[in-house]
Amino acid sequence: MRSLHETQTGIVSSRTMSQQLSKPHLIELAKEFGTPLYVYHAEKIKEQYEKLKSAFSKTDTAFFYASKALTNINILKYIKSLGANVDCSSILEARLALHAGFLPKQILYTSNGIAFSEIEEAQSLGIIINIDSLSNLEKFGKKFGHSYPVGIRLRPNIMAGGNLKISTGHDKSKFGIPVTQIKQILDIVHRYDLLVHGLHIHTGSEIKDADVFIKGIEVLFDIVPHFRDLKFIDLGGGFKVPYKKGDTETDIHLLAQKIGEAFANHPNPGGNPLQVWLEPGKFLVSECGYFITSVNVVKKTPSATFVSIDSGFNHLIRPMFYDAYHHIENISNPESPMKKYAVVGNICETDTFAWDREINEVREGDNLVFYNAGAYGFEMSSNFNSRLRPAEVLVKNGKAHLIRRRETFEDLLRNQVEAV
Ligand code: PLP
Repeated sequence: MRSLHETQTGIVSSRTMSQQLSKPHLIELAKEFGTPLYVYHAEKIKEQYEKLKSAFSKTDTAFFYASKALTNINILKYIKSLGANVDCSSILEARLALHAGFLPKQILYTSNGIAFSEIEEAQSLGIIINIDSLSNLEKFGKKFGHSYPVGIRLRPNIMAGGNLKISTGHDKSKFGIPVTQIKQILDIVHRYDLLVHGLHIHTGSEIKDADVFIKGIEVLFDIVPHFRDLKFIDLGGGFKVPYKKGDTETDIHLLAQKIGEAFANHPNPGGNPLQVWLEPGKFLVSECGYFITSVNVVKKTPSATFVSIDSGFNHLIRPMFYDAYHHIENISNPESPMKKYAVVGNICETDTFAWDREINEVREGDNLVFYNAGAYGFEMSSNFNSRLRPAEVLVKNGKAHLIRRRETFEDLLRNQVEAV
């Protein structure tokens, strides 16, 4: 691999096409737009999408970007321009997708414990629906019968994913209809003559092992013969991306090869050829994102040197919520010696981003950047402690575009009603 080199735009790239924004470029963006700041790099999203497409080129596969990871309308438009479809987890995400220009047939609504009225709205919008409960399947049958196709989200009872909090297919998970309830599912399907076009599973996030997907496929293949109108098998998302140098990631080529073989060995005799659907979230947008912060205070104590930044779990909750690891660099002082720090937030809760973390010597005012900040970063942010949500910037073709303005005090008051 050739060493990284700077382009005129400040974008660093390598012969492997691995796109990264350079530290000086990130510093410039922090100066121009202020901190805390989310920055996304369009070409990295494209690189990831192309990787997926090329890995699955031999299998009939459709990709639905799991938009819950990052819904900024500019990101949705960009991902649409790459040729992807979109997966939504609320009716408002579906409406954002329509707003971004996706056609109804490109929008999949994988529902989870929602009110039936959202399913009715999804139907009226003409989008694809996956239903995850017997109760909603029954209501769907009563109202729409054979007139509108439907997918069924199943729980395969498989333990998968980086940790329990992001594991969604096991036998205590709320997600999907347990596959063991196949008899009840079929009762409803037959009673209302449902047009079941798809079977869906999503077993978790950060799944390294391709065989987990194959296990899920085997569970689904066992029941495929019951559904004669099937067109797709949706395996969800959950591909692991690297968080630091040398970190493991899902081997997408191996995964594509194994999935391709599994489908080739299961031609669905008497039924339609089955298309593979995938719902990548993190895989597309995790690595494109940088969260740039500034250091407010460096506090030396006997237990640790605390670095308090101008952020907290109100802006990036993944480390506290999921014990997620984010690589952190001091982009203002990159040549200085490494020291150990506890990087913490400035809100009135224990919000430790990293403990005992080696970072180039930190001074007050330095910019610290968090990597892998594209997925579930801004998207999970809040106004806790009445702090403002950060701005978002998209760097595309070397040009920085403000795609969400920083909130202001007025935003805190916007929906409040001074009624008493
Ligand atoms: N599909 C479904 C149904 C999900 O619940 C999720 C994540 O929660 C995803 C896709 C995307 O997962 P990831 O971002 O790990 O690819």
